[in-house]
Amino acid sequence: MPLIVQKFGGTSVADSQKILAAARRAVRTQQEGNQVVMVVSAMGHNTDLLIDLANQITDQAPAREMDMLLSTGEQVSVALMAMAIHSLGHEAISLTGAQIGIKTDSTHTKARIQSISTDRVRRALDEGKIVIAAGFQGIDEDFNITTLGRGGSDTTAVALAAVLQADACEIYTDVDGVYTTDPRVLPEARHIKRVSYDEMLELASLGAGVMHNRSIEFAKKFTVPIHVRTSFSDALGTMITALPEAEDQPVGGAALAKNEARVTILGVPDKPGTSLTIFSKIAEKAISVDMIVQNVGADGIADVSFTVLKDDLRATLKAAEEAARELKAEGVGHDDDVAKVSVVGLGMARQTGVARRMFRALADAGVNILMISTSEIKISVLVARPQAAAALRAVHQAFALEKPPAGAAAVDYTKTPRAARTSDVVAIVSRLQKMEELTIDVIALDESQARLTVSGVADQPGIAAAIFEAVADGGIFVDMIVQSFGREGKAKLSFTVPQAQYKQCHELLDKLVGGMKCGPVSGNAQVAKLSVSGIGLRSHTEVAIRAFRCLTEAGINVAMINTSEVRVNVVVEGSHGQKALAALQKAFADARQ
Ligand code: ADP
Ligand code: ASP
Ligand code: MG
Repeated sequence: MPLIVQKFGGTSVADSQKILAAARRAVRTQQEGNQVVMVVSAMGHNTDLLIDLANQITDQAPAREMDMLLSTGEQVSVALMAMAIHSLGHEAISLTGAQIGIKTDSTHTKARIQSISTDRVRRALDEGKIVIAAGFQGIDEDFNITTLGRGGSDTTAVALAAVLQADACEIYTDVDGVYTTDPRVLPEARHIKRVSYDEMLELASLGAGVMHNRSIEFAKKFTVPIHVRTSFSDALGTMITALPEAEDQPVGGAALAKNEARVTILGVPDKPGTSLTIFSKIAEKAISVDMIVQNVGADGIADVSFTVLKDDLRATLKAAEEAARELKAEGVGHDDDVAKVSVVGLGMARQTGVARRMFRALADAGVNILMISTSEIKISVLVARPQAAAALRAVHQAFALEKPPAGAAAVDYTKTPRAARTSDVVAIVSRLQKMEELTIDVIALDESQARLTVSGVADQPGIAAAIFEAVADGGIFVDMIVQSFGREGKAKLSFTVPQAQYKQCHELLDKLVGGMKCGPVSGNAQVAKLSVSGIGLRSHTEVAIRAFRCLTEAGINVAMINTSEVRVNVVVEGSHGQKALAALQKAFADARQ
């Protein structure tokens, strides 16, 4: 019999009537000849209320007790949902994370799933019951209750769908699917019928709160198709599968992460091992680092900037100050009034001019770019928070995201037959010790590129736009872009181009910067770019650290670094390429698929 997982988010179970409506939907699905597993979130804003309560008592609640508290939200919902189904004359059983056997590590409030046992769920399903699983929670080795991070019920749902080899995983929420950007922020956002795992993974991690990013990691790893849809009607929503909305679309969506904070370690010695020291200290506190922007140093000194969630700023500054002392750096700066605007698209990797279009739109909207970080399928810029919404709107318009793309394929919403599932979940789970373990598929070396750096970039709108317009007009293909936060209003912008175009690009920039009062231009005619790609790279904070550690041990200095959900890129001196590749291959040998 087909098995369907249906997840209901907070707004979809916000009151008794909504709980009954969700119960009716599950019963109907069962009557249509399916087994049904429901995954339920806490009612309405209950999780926020619980957090508020804790904050009224202390601003340093022990994480273990926070989990004990927060897990109660979901326990209320599952019990009520089971009662609702009983009241409709059907059989149901509510189960907590512990009762299902969702085993996690012990990182309270951000736990990772290690394994899920399916016996009890299967037994209940075979007895004809609707199983109601509490989202967001698990249990560690010592039977402590853990939670998976805000929004984590999505991850419970997709993980259950994976281990149960469900035929469909439906995420019921308060929007009718995934939009090109948050429709609450931009009303002109457009509904997307289909989005690829990679794009959704980036969008979710870059601020599109509609799905928990780790749920998409699971979906990709175990090939679970997800249907995001509204709980308020039967309208079809958005399918998240391996395929994008349309081929060759440069940008499929945009995202805003409103609550970011920038931290800069000033004046660190530009030598192997500095990034390792910094990010190890931060990882020890289980803080996720977001935009890591390291740029080439000058006179043996570099600044390293990164962003974290604003809520993590205090703890991050403590760790950063420790690192700065150890490294004998000049100090630590920060700004907690920043936001990140990103565009994402699978087609970006194959098209030129995407960066140029984005930077021009921002310049025309009068938005100053504080930092830039790119990867193959995304460009992120850090801007002042008061300008964030205007920046998002400008970018959304620039890529005409409100209009459906040409060549959008028809979407198949039907259930995916088990036989068509490409991955053998059981085999994957047995190969991975832990379900959320890091998986690396490719470690690649690209020795075909050169690096150019424009120093002294003035802190005003329009500079990046002018540079990339000139470069694009010169027919030059830009790959990786990094703009670091500048001191005294002078930032540094580095990017890579094909070696054959290095000289031409250098000359072009030399001419250009004179008129713009920035510069000088420097560069390296031969660099090596190394990419580690896989699943869960950014949420596994240790990935960047592992990369830094192995390069440090090999005595290799990192000139530029970019991170995304699916890839970590580093640029090193050209002559170090092979050595760096060997070091990375060895360092990630255990995580290879
Ligand atoms: P739930 O409680 O059902 O998990 P969430 O609040 O977590 O619901 O997620 C749904 C919300 O996500 C929407 O109301 C919407 O404002 C927001 N959102 C952010 N980005 C997007 C996007 N790209 N597409 C759709 N919704 C988005
Ligand atoms: N109730 C949790 C939260 O609000 C988990 C979830 O809803 O997904 O974050
Ligand atoms: Mg959610």
